[in-house]
Amino acid sequence: MSPGHSPAATRPRLLDPDRLDAWLRRMPKTALHVHLEGTLEPELAFTLAERNAIEPGSPAFPYADLAALRAAYRFADLGAFLDVYYAACGVLRTADDFHDLARAYGDRVRAEGIRRAELFFDPQTHTRRGVGLSTVVRGLWSGLADARAHGVDVALIACFLRDAPVGHADDPAAADAGFTDPAQATAWATLRQVLEYNQRAPADESILGVGLDSYETPYPPELFAAVFARARAAGLRCTAHAGEEGPPAYIRAAIDTLGVSRIDHGVRCTEDAALLERLAAVHDTPTVVADFGEPHAIPLTVCPRSNYALKVFPDPARSNLLTLLRAGVQVCVNSDDPAYFGGYALENYRAVVDWLDPSFEELRQLARNGVHASWMPPAAKTTLLAEIDAWFAASP
Ligand SMILES: [Zn+2]
Repeated sequence: MSPGHSPAATRPRLLDPDRLDAWLRRMPKTALHVHLEGTLEPELAFTLAERNAIEPGSPAFPYADLAALRAAYRFADLGAFLDVYYAACGVLRTADDFHDLARAYGDRVRAEGIRRAELFFDPQTHTRRGVGLSTVVRGLWSGLADARAHGVDVALIACFLRDAPVGHADDPAAADAGFTDPAQATAWATLRQVLEYNQRAPADESILGVGLDSYETPYPPELFAAVFARARAAGLRCTAHAGEEGPPAYIRAAIDTLGVSRIDHGVRCTEDAALLERLAAVHDTPTVVADFGEPHAIPLTVCPRSNYALKVFPDPARSNLLTLLRAGVQVCVNSDDPAYFGGYALENYRAVVDWLDPSFEELRQLARNGVHASWMPPAAKTTLLAEIDAWFAASP
């Protein structure tokens, strides 16, 4: 129990364990840090392997059966997780495969009260295997169509792999083709593919922004400064993973050299008091104003179950989510790679309640922060914030 926060006797009744899941599930919310490839459930991975005639246990998919894949889901750290993640992604080959992946996640989104989802995907994970970027994106959009038809607002963010080559501004690219040599799938080539794709895509199926993910160290953000500057100049919004396993200096560099307007994870910022203050402050830099439409804090998309699974916080009760919230940082709750880390939005909010015992008001603030941290248009934010406030006001 955190000192100064609601003792059980005065908690709202909805926080009774029996009612909590149903209430959290229906609570209006956002998802700003989910990797679509990280929603690949083991059962679907085997279905896709069979469809693509990939032999389980072969080098292309080195898991003999479901039990072997599930057993691989015990990770020592970020690197160990990514090894499994990339191996499982090998079953995703056609637009139909990406459709099925996104459709399964879209069904979850609808069932979990998510109103706005800004979803990551990793182009290079696929293009370096010869799968065209447009194959990936068209499949994802078609898989998300049903969720969108039911009112979920969806955006896509293409992440560069920080352990892949950065390349050069004139690297050749073709949005409809994959690469014959993995070394050609550079960050620069990927950006060119994204821009090519966006030029031809319907306005409501373009790629909204770029991110930076994969093995964090030893790949400091400044390696990608020129790529992000070009992305920014082309009108793409910018975010980056930083301060998950990497030091606070990586968070500073993401802000200062990449011009990002939010940070994914960022939990190691508590090691640097000045940085903590800086994140919480309102920024009126051109990059922040461009992404949010007004001066704004730099939010953190925090993923409690991921942090526990990857041993960022070996003891879940030591997650610093509420420390950050109480310091005025705009933190929100996310799931990262839900198929691998024990759950989606519901399970992450449930973990926050069970592990950290937030007050009712703090829960409301976490939900509201998800809206503030999103890149939705201001009018849509106002509508969703009102919906969240009405939800909490009506809760017993
Ligand atoms: Zn992530």
